[in-house]
Amino acid sequence: MKHFWVFLFISTVFFTNTFAQKPEKLSSAELFHEIQKLNFLGTALYVAAHPDDENTNLISYLSNHKKARTVYLSLTRGDGGQNLIGPELRELLGVLRTQELLAARNVDGGEQWFTRANDFGYSKHPNETLKIWDKEKVLADVVWAIRNIKPDVIINRFDHRTPGSTHGHHTSSAVLSMEAFDLANNPEVYPEQLKWTTTWQPKRSFYNTSWWQYGSQEKFAEADKSGMLKLDVGTYYPEFGLSNNEIAAMARSQHLCQGFGRLTDRGISAIYIELIKGEMPTNNDVFDGINTTWSRVKGGDAVGDILYKVEERFDFQNPSKHIPELVRAYELLQQVEDIHWRTLKSKQLKKIILATAGIYLEASSESGSTTPGSKAVIHIEAINRTLPNVTLKQIDIVGVDAKLLPNKTLGTNQKENFDIGFTVPENTSYTSPYWLNEPGTLGTYMVKDQKLIGKSETPSGFKAMFSLVIDDVEITFEKDVIYRYSKPDKGELYEPFAVLPEVTSKIDEKVLIFATMDTKEVQVKIRAGKNDVNGSVVLDHPAGWTIVPTSIPFSIAQKGEEISVKFNVTPPNIESEGKIAPKITVGNKVYVKELVEIDYDHIPKQSVLLPSEAKVVRMNIQKSGEHVAYIMGAGDKVPESLEQIGYQVHMVDPNTIQNGSLDKYDAVVIGIRAYNVIETLKFKQPILFDYVKKGGTMIVQYNTAGRWSNQFDNIAPYNMTLSRDRVTDENAEVKILAPKNSLVNFPNPISEADFDGWVQERGLYFPSQWSKEFTPILSMKDEGETEKQGSLIIAPYGEGHYIYTGLSFFRELPVGVSGAYKLFANMLSVGKDNVKKNSNVKG
Ligand SMILES: [Zn+2]
Repeated sequence: MKHFWVFLFISTVFFTNTFAQKPEKLSSAELFHEIQKLNFLGTALYVAAHPDDENTNLISYLSNHKKARTVYLSLTRGDGGQNLIGPELRELLGVLRTQELLAARNVDGGEQWFTRANDFGYSKHPNETLKIWDKEKVLADVVWAIRNIKPDVIINRFDHRTPGSTHGHHTSSAVLSMEAFDLANNPEVYPEQLKWTTTWQPKRSFYNTSWWQYGSQEKFAEADKSGMLKLDVGTYYPEFGLSNNEIAAMARSQHLCQGFGRLTDRGISAIYIELIKGEMPTNNDVFDGINTTWSRVKGGDAVGDILYKVEERFDFQNPSKHIPELVRAYELLQQVEDIHWRTLKSKQLKKIILATAGIYLEASSESGSTTPGSKAVIHIEAINRTLPNVTLKQIDIVGVDAKLLPNKTLGTNQKENFDIGFTVPENTSYTSPYWLNEPGTLGTYMVKDQKLIGKSETPSGFKAMFSLVIDDVEITFEKDVIYRYSKPDKGELYEPFAVLPEVTSKIDEKVLIFATMDTKEVQVKIRAGKNDVNGSVVLDHPAGWTIVPTSIPFSIAQKGEEISVKFNVTPPNIESEGKIAPKITVGNKVYVKELVEIDYDHIPKQSVLLPSEAKVVRMNIQKSGEHVAYIMGAGDKVPESLEQIGYQVHMVDPNTIQNGSLDKYDAVVIGIRAYNVIETLKFKQPILFDYVKKGGTMIVQYNTAGRWSNQFDNIAPYNMTLSRDRVTDENAEVKILAPKNSLVNFPNPISEADFDGWVQERGLYFPSQWSKEFTPILSMKDEGETEKQGSLIIAPYGEGHYIYTGLSFFRELPVGVSGAYKLFANMLSVGKDNVKKNSNVKG
């Protein structure tokens, strides 16, 4: 797994908590900032659709300058994107991006929320988005977020008034935010939520506008801004030694899997927010007219009297002298009836009390994981580094029957260590992202427990509750049980403490294509979650498939060790597809999960449990030709897929292409976006075209329009104009325009049915114009648009054929879409029908 070292350059103490799971350790200046935040009773909610949509400048400004509680509600977790740093895609990418958002919030001081909406891929219009998402569910989640967070102001990243001008998810986030603004206070709307929360009416709502909405910076400069606030997000924070925009850039740089690592910035910088609901502030303050002092809470004045004084007279050299006041404020806060503010402010105040007293509490497990039924030991460290007298009364481990009653005085700077041993209950839940526990739909995750909805991650299964008596008041502090260890080349490390199954399994290849009846050997990896695991594994399979042997016994001595066993899988003689799934029996228990670990330096290690399975597809696929040259572009898995149906794929470095060097291949395939990313290719085009002229087949997959077209006009041997035309509905009807063309006949007859079961989209960046030599083969369109005929076009050139296709083969082949395989085999077989050579190429 790749690691990035960006964080080594961030030396500021304020950001130490950026490191995965590392406990926060606040300096006096940071502590003072926390007290200022404690004394600000206002909340802002920022709403957008994806990880990276959020304006970190604004979030940091609200959190660090206004000192407001600032929450980013990202409707999705970003499952649909690309990953620049590792192999995680789809739901695993969503897990990685969730953690990157949390890392960003650790830097800019915000909090992170989500809905159940799934990032299912590009969407042109909010109508499509809201249909796929299940609008009612996602709207309910936005209302739920507002009712729980209780924001005074909401700021939308996107404009609800301009559907179709940006990603449908974007507009939808604003549309839902606007609707939820009006619904959250109505007890008749989603009344079931009111079992756990209360209604809430935000005061105003803004749209975080920007110049690109106006076409150009010049036009924006001239625009009427009377309905907008202008915020200086370049403000400098002496307590951190950083400018707001520096913090924002550091936060944004957490989105490493999206390639957002960037330089920091300083200096005056303006952001405009346009009022869309509520009263216009008169003083350029988003919280204008909103009581953000302790007096907004019944019983809060008495708490405020103490805490404002602490802030006013804060002693940076000896903060611990404020402990008696802070503890008194804590006592008074416990009498406040308003549960929302009491909970929120108690949590902040407890963190401040610990930091002010220099008290460090830690509960660290012996290893990174355990299994239900196993024995576990937790090492406790407790130290008070400033106060004369603190008593550690009791330590409880929540969720297990384990407690200690030390009732011991923690003398100044005298470290106390204890061990707590217990048996992990058999019914303990496994550690895994809660939204992936049950299969969801294309548009939404399945989450059965309402209380989990919105949470960024699964709450830790084990928490240590430390009961301390400080200045005669008993306060209980909560710490997640973590795993602390060190590596010689990395230093001190922290990881979540995970509960995992005692055995997990994995088939590396997630899709196995059987183009013939030949048997394939399938390797199943089995990993032990504890010592001495003995059992047997069978492979569940679709009817008609044969698995030999039926069952394989195994034995693993060491926790963490992995062994592999092999099954012979033989498909039936007819077309068939389904899943093979390892089922492991140990004693009287059956295990069916795969463990995926996501481990990067910028996020806490993630353990994800998914169904252990692989898709098997038996397709009656014919092919001609044998040797395929592949020129990789931006990266795709098409070569592995072609090998699965029996082609010999030769990866060709474009630098090595010379006159005649390609002649031995039956076809040359260009990987996705190759002309966008490989400079050399444009110089090799004459050689590639010469290869086609002599009888070869050249297949070019999608390239993005715009960038290459300016610098490069010979992507095809004839005129062809790439456009941004795309068909995003993977179920869009496909019409065959050239039914006699060999691409839809030889060697596999293609019908409309071969376009069933496609995923994510039909294709993208189709040519919109082409010269008369080309024949368009297919026609398709998204709802409400005109027919697009450029998804697959072919032209004879000399003795050979040139094919350009924007169809998303790079998505369809790796997931085993049978029709996509047949169409690709036909492209590779073009001109190899000796009897009818060339006669059918023109439709
Ligand atoms: Zn986005």
